[in-house]
Amino acid sequence: MDTLDRARRYLLPTARDGAPKQIHLSVYGWEDRLSSWVAGSTSICGRSVHDEGLDLDDAVTCPKCRALRDGYETVFAKENETPPVADRVAARKDPRYPSVLAEIRAFGWPAGNPMVPDGWADTLATHVMAAVRAAEEA
Ligand SMILES: [Zn+2]
Repeated sequence: MDTLDRARRYLLPTARDGAPKQIHLSVYGWEDRLSSWVAGSTSICGRSVHDEGLDLDDAVTCPKCRALRDGYETVFAKENETPPVADRVAARKDPRYPSVLAEIRAFGWPAGNPMVPDGWADTLATHVMAAVRAAEEA
């Protein structure tokens, strides 16, 4: 796993507890606070799974995880496209920025926790505002 970029998230094959055993995909990312790569305990199809030390290219057998994989890969690729600094600064100065940020902060999961945690709300609002401004200039 030494070749992985710590700034990125990946999909890692993980096995399901119990039988029949299937290989699912979980989101896998670097955790600074643990100084370690950590895989989610739930697969992208929603099953409870555990990391069995499978390789990134081990064959995934769950059809739901296979169907969802492309959508996740698209999101992960987009997450790493950062607008140029000047565009991010301009986005945050845009008079519409506070409304975009407030809208993002207003959404929570059914359990009540914010859908986009605080620091990430700023990042997402900046990216959304930069994209809107780029579309207007096109
Ligand atoms: Zn699955």
